Amino acid sequence: MTNRKHNFSAGPCTLPLEVLEEAQHEFVDYQGAGMSLIEMSHRGAHFDTVANEAMSLAMEVFEVPDDFSVLFLQGGAILQFSMIPMNLLHNGQKGAYVNSGTWAKGAITDAKQYGEVYTAWDGAETNYTRMPSTEDLQMQDNTRYLHITTNETIGGIRFADWPEVDVPMIGDMSSEYMARPIPWDKFDMIYGGAQKNLGPAGMAVVFIRKSILEHTNQNIGRYLRYDIQESKGSMFNTPPVFPIYMFGKVLKWMKKEGGLASMEANASKKSSTLYTAIDQSGGYYNCPVEVASRSHMNVVFRLPSEDLEKKFLSESVNEGLLNLKGHRSVGGCRASIYNALPYESVIALTQFMDTFKAANS
Ligand SMILES: *Cc1c(COP(=O)(O)O)cnc(C)c1O
Repeated sequence: MTNRKHNFSAGPCTLPLEVLEEAQHEFVDYQGAGMSLIEMSHRGAHFDTVANEAMSLAMEVFEVPDDFSVLFLQGGAILQFSMIPMNLLHNGQKGAYVNSGTWAKGAITDAKQYGEVYTAWDGAETNYTRMPSTEDLQMQDNTRYLHITTNETIGGIRFADWPEVDVPMIGDMSSEYMARPIPWDKFDMIYGGAQKNLGPAGMAVVFIRKSILEHTNQNIGRYLRYDIQESKGSMFNTPPVFPIYMFGKVLKWMKKEGGLASMEANASKKSSTLYTAIDQSGGYYNCPVEVASRSHMNVVFRLPSEDLEKKFLSESVNEGLLNLKGHRSVGGCRASIYNALPYESVIALTQFMDTFKAANS
């Protein structure tokens, strides 16, 4: 009945089939209400249950300690690039940023509009092929936070080891959200767009340390204030009801599949299968990323020539392997293998890689 393809999209991306089917099944008449969930008040009993469940599952599945709150905010991860310095940087305080690639650069660009920021490490010098170690970081006095992009979606690199710094960290985890555990004591905030591991596009999921909310700036528009969003339970205005509903379902699926440990193990298994295929191709396929920094979510690779890459991408579509094109800014190929992508899809890809190499080398 369903004609589902192997979907390696970087985001929005593949979601668990059973979640889609469940949502489809209850869409038109939500639990006998005579209307769908997206047609009813967000202050009513049905949505209240949905939102509360999504919040408590978020804390449970991601193993978040009680001194954090979860927020559902619109504007995606990119609005957080602005909200973080707006809320957190006071006079004289600086934001430190690791420039690890495209998304980090975006965070730095936006933060500069609202406060003093500096680059604690610049990956441009190594063409964004690795993450820094703690020793690489050049921290300055009066730093409020260190911002890191835990996984760079376009460059295909991740922090395998967390930096050890004296200031709290803030992590953009968009593209590896709930795919690995977080050392919460090191962080004041973790955030990301939902559309890469957690559900449909339309919201950012933010985990913020409660104790910092007393000190956030208040001279900004109300929607942009973390303290107000938190005190209103992310219902300061009409929340993104459909993304919250789907997010709850995805989390239920994650919990049923074994939770964070199982997501992490699957990500390791899928990524190592793919990297092994690349490394054992005798140089036909080549991953430009340093081994220690290789992403478990976005696997980037090149072929011997751009012509072969074009051919590879067009033939892969015929095999039902979709969205393998690298980001337009870097070219090449990229397989995004998020939580909901089945292992079989990775096997189908490695088999195609073998066949293609045999026919084209
Ligand atoms: C996709 C992505 C973003 C942008 O997310 P939006 O929700 O589209 O704003 C930011 N950071 C990273 C690491 C991403 O992968």
